[in-house]
Amino acid sequence: MANRLTAGCCIVGGGPCGMMLGYLLARAGVEVVVLEKHADFLRDFRGDTIHPSTLELMHELGLLSDFLALPHQEVRELKARFGDIEFIFADFSHLPTHCKFIALMPQWDFLNFLSERGRLYPGFRVIMRAEATDLVEEAGAVVGVRANTPDGALELRSPLVVGCDGRHSLVRHKAGLEVENFGAPMDVLWFRVSRKPGDPAEAMGLFEAGHIFVMINRGDYWQCGYVIPKGSFGEVRRRGLTQFCAQLARTMPLFTDRVGELASWDQIKLLTVAVDRLKRWYRRGLICIGDAAHAMSPVGGVGINLAVQDAVAAANILAEPLRAGAVGEGLLRRVQKRREFPTRVIQRAQVLVQERVITGVLGQREEIRPPLLVKLLWAVPMLRRIPARILGIGIRPEHIRTAERPAAAKPGGVWQK
Ligand SMILES: Cc1cc2nc3c(=O)[nH]c(=O)nc-3n(C[C@H](O)[C@H](O)[C@H](O)COP(=O)(O)OP(=O)(O)OC[C@H]3O[C@@H](n4cnc5c(N)ncnc54)[C@H](O)[C@@H]3O)c2cc1C
Repeated sequence: MANRLTAGCCIVGGGPCGMMLGYLLARAGVEVVVLEKHADFLRDFRGDTIHPSTLELMHELGLLSDFLALPHQEVRELKARFGDIEFIFADFSHLPTHCKFIALMPQWDFLNFLSERGRLYPGFRVIMRAEATDLVEEAGAVVGVRANTPDGALELRSPLVVGCDGRHSLVRHKAGLEVENFGAPMDVLWFRVSRKPGDPAEAMGLFEAGHIFVMINRGDYWQCGYVIPKGSFGEVRRRGLTQFCAQLARTMPLFTDRVGELASWDQIKLLTVAVDRLKRWYRRGLICIGDAAHAMSPVGGVGINLAVQDAVAAANILAEPLRAGAVGEGLLRRVQKRREFPTRVIQRAQVLVQERVITGVLGQREEIRPPLLVKLLWAVPMLRRIPARILGIGIRPEHIRTAERPAAAKPGGVWQK
């Protein structure tokens, strides 16, 4: 027989979206349980970018100085290199936020921070190694989830289930929510190369005929992303690791003396890229947000930001009704309405860049020329504030509207056999 647990809100997935929502709801006095299928946050996630708008939320929550005490790098401008020419295409120094930079921080540090701070509230509970496997439904409404945990099967009941379980969301699948797919022409190979004294400090995107390469400074190593045409990893592997390393050294000569660190394909992870969106994000008793509602392309590195903004909007709209123990479909519709517009705009822009720039660069065999827009940003520095604003703050930025309250009920739900 399954263990039984009740909670004021059940969140499936402890990524940026689920952990931020869990934190905010617990802070607002809701008894919340986050189910995360992995044992810890220590794995290679997609993306380590904490945007100025997320840092602003940290400020509003009074967490900013503790958060920035964690090791991070501050990126004040974004650079790209097309062939031999290097451009600055975004300048964050004029943003109307406390932090005029993107903080590069391993995602596990960000998630651990939210988890530690959440534990200060009695209503906050994260269950690790708890993989949701199904929904519990009664009379057409979702009333909970089933999960496998190290302690056996679990049935968690709550007035609302929030699917924050990412691009391959089980929750949205089991809820039968319809997905619109917008396609992506690429996947990303994700690996590390050591960083040496004298290396540049900045993150960089390199565009060359047939190749796109991104390198992110993580202190003593570079986190690298190598963009390949969708579905071509098998072909890359067939050509062999030696050839892959040689190509890497050609694209980034700085790495010539260290590509040998990549001794096995086990060190290189394939991250599949998808861009999609649910037509309807909710049904009675359930809503999906973050990548579970709209899988984001890595273009612009804004997916984490959007997921966090979804969490803030959801908490603003749902915290009080959840404290009262009931959330009607009208409120869930409000969450979708609030977040769908920014999502649509950003996804449209990502798809345009994928079609106009990425597909072109990956298919290019001759010397590459910077697109007109990039040349314009180079010639008129003031224009660099526009991409900085879109990437750094986004569209329709959210603010914390929930008050800090002690939990209304006993901590962490009740276990019953
Ligand atoms: C290659 C690549 C690079 C990217 N780079 C960036 C970047 O630099 N910056 C950026 O902002 N965005 C980036 N993105 C996008 C970003 O990764 C996502 O938009 C963001 O992670 C979404 O957050 P989320 O919390 O909604 O989902 P996720 O981060 O996917 O988190 C989902 C969580 O749910 C858990 N989970 C899944 N299924 C279950 C289940 N059944 N039961 C319990 N738990 C479950 C997972 O383990 C995970 O912890 C990138 C994407 C890709 C593909």
